[in-house]
Amino acid sequence: MRVCYCPGMPLITVSCNCCGAPLKVNDEVRFVTCQFCNTQLEVTHSESAVFTRQINRIAEQTTQLAQDVEVLKLQNELEMLDRGMQVGTAPRSANSSVAGGMVALVFSIVFAIVCFAIASAAGQAGAPGFFALVPVAMGVLALVGGVVGFGKAVSNSGRQDSALSRRDELLRRLEELRRQRGSDASQKSGD
Ligand SMILES: [Zn+2]
Repeated sequence: MRVCYCPGMPLITVSCNCCGAPLKVNDEVRFVTCQFCNTQLEVTHSESAVFTRQINRIAEQTTQLAQDVEVLKLQNELEMLDRGMQVGTAPRSANSSVAGGMVALVFSIVFAIVCFAIASAAGQAGAPGFFALVPVAMGVLALVGGVVGFGKAVSNSGRQDSALSRRDELLRRLEELRRQRGSDASQKSGD
């Protein structure tokens, strides 16, 4: 770093934030390394005073900033998840929709059995094959519909389960970050 000692730029004395040694620096210098303890310092000019901050402290603050950004991202994702769950079925009804699918499946099986019974009765009564075929087809359709519906209900509840576990994960991470921020803040007030 080039430090100019020309008269137009007065030297100021700041104290090292780490060891407290007095350091003479050019008024316009922004960064300086302490000659005594080798700490890298940023020279900060406030309205009333000039003081130094340790560069690693700045790095800490950058980390905090990154954490803040992560908190925002997590909160955003949480919000999206919540909105998605509101658009779909509410998380609590996931089990009831599986139960609904199960009831529909049982009904379609019963319906299919009735259809097959009608078909076999029609066959025994000597009705033409066509009359037996229609209830068989209806029974098969009902069975397929019931099974597909049940499968959908199960996969829906699975998706909601994974959304819920993702939500838990996000909440845990947020809580973790908040705790970190909290301990950082208490350390700072302790200085
Ligand atoms: Zn120092």
